[in-house]
Amino acid sequence: MPSIARLITLVESTPEDVHGVLPELYAAGGRAHVVGVTGSPGSGKSTLVNALVSEVRGRGHTIAVVAVDPSSPFSGGAILGDRIRMQEHTLDDSVFVRSMSSRGALGGLARASVDAVAILDAAGFDVVVVETVGAGQSEVEIIRTAHTIVLVSVPGMGDDVQAIKAGVMEIADIHVVNKADRPETHRTVKDLRGTLQLGLDHGGLGWETPIVETVALDGRGVPEFADAVEAHRAWLESSGELSRRERRTAAARLTTLAKELLMEQLAEPAGGAVFERAVDDVSSRRLDPRTAAKDLIRELIS
Ligand code: GDP
Repeated sequence: MPSIARLITLVESTPEDVHGVLPELYAAGGRAHVVGVTGSPGSGKSTLVNALVSEVRGRGHTIAVVAVDPSSPFSGGAILGDRIRMQEHTLDDSVFVRSMSSRGALGGLARASVDAVAILDAAGFDVVVVETVGAGQSEVEIIRTAHTIVLVSVPGMGDDVQAIKAGVMEIADIHVVNKADRPETHRTVKDLRGTLQLGLDHGGLGWETPIVETVALDGRGVPEFADAVEAHRAWLESSGELSRRERRTAAARLTTLAKELLMEQLAEPAGGAVFERAVDDVSSRRLDPRTAAKDLIRELIS
């Protein structure tokens, strides 16, 4: 089995090279607590995640981070950002940090980052953090694969409005108001609490969405943040929500991959020929489109 870093490079650059090890990876995985951290650029996500890494290590657990940045032209373990972020944690093989960008991920960023999480899970990390700006649809898709979704806001309302638009506000399990050293913190927390009470929380399921204030720069509130993450994991297990979420993620992945597989088969010369025959059948009215489509699928996957 290739090294973790090498496998992640492969899922980015030549995903088909990883197909052979996927069964083994999936069989070995399923233990990690996957935590999605999202928020506007500059809200302090990477500072906060760095502080969380130290806290989690201090509690004796291992942790890996996949930082997804669609706007970055860079990707890969050797880039400067990763090295800076890893500096505190070098010589500690219980920590792994990796950036991914759209440019690096040829098979699509969402797929590559979800596969990277699967690799880190299979490698045995207790906690795997996926960090991304909560802006686009593919990022929401990535974040939804996490067990615990954390939304980072900063004092001042602009960012929160942006998060609502992106559809993350409704699905956050933990709210962090970072930069709580700023004077408007109290007001932001109050507004957020008001919004949650309007029914955007996961009402009825027994989880009360906490709002944690942090100053990621000096570590204030980070133990409470780590406590909230652990409490959410415990709740996921005791409530049965963990398996419900895992089924939801599996269903989403299966749907996406099944569509992709069909499209790939259609793009092959043999698939193209089968398709052309189906087009003949429908255009000449030998077959109705629905019957022809069913036959087409059967032939493509046989
Ligand atoms: P990201 O883009 O969300 O990953 O944000 P960064 O972690 O890069 O942080 C953006 C800026 O905010 C940096 O200059 C950080 O030093 C700063 N920052 C992060 N956390 C805090 C905080 O708690 N208080 C203050 N005042 N600044 C912070």
